[in-house]
Amino acid sequence: MELVSELPDDSMKEMAELLRSGAKMLSRSCPECSSPLFQLKSGEIVCANCQRRVVIVPEGEEAAVEAGVQLGVLEKALVERLVAMGDKLAREEDAGRLKALAEVTDALLTALERLRKLRKA
Ligand SMILES: [Zn+2]
Repeated sequence: MELVSELPDDSMKEMAELLRSGAKMLSRSCPECSSPLFQLKSGEIVCANCQRRVVIVPEGEEAAVEAGVQLGVLEKALVERLVAMGDKLAREEDAGRLKALAEVTDALLTALERLRKLRKA
């Protein structure tokens, strides 16, 4: 296995230890370092390289977590825009531009409201 030979000696030793203790090498790899993961007899999944437990999220759930993160980023961006709009609105004297700013703010609020409903769903 070429992949294993690229890993530091320490983790190779650790992996050998794990196999000797009856742990199974899994087809999945560590999200941190991409080393193969091992399942201990106790059912715990560990990375021999990082020397820590790894929790495997079932497929589908992983996608949901990812989507949640993306929506969170979008929500943050919308909130930041709204704050910036608030500043502009407070300083704007021109009625025409105020109207335009109000429209943008309204659109941002609508987007934020929809996004929040989506996140709760
Ligand atoms: Zn790792």
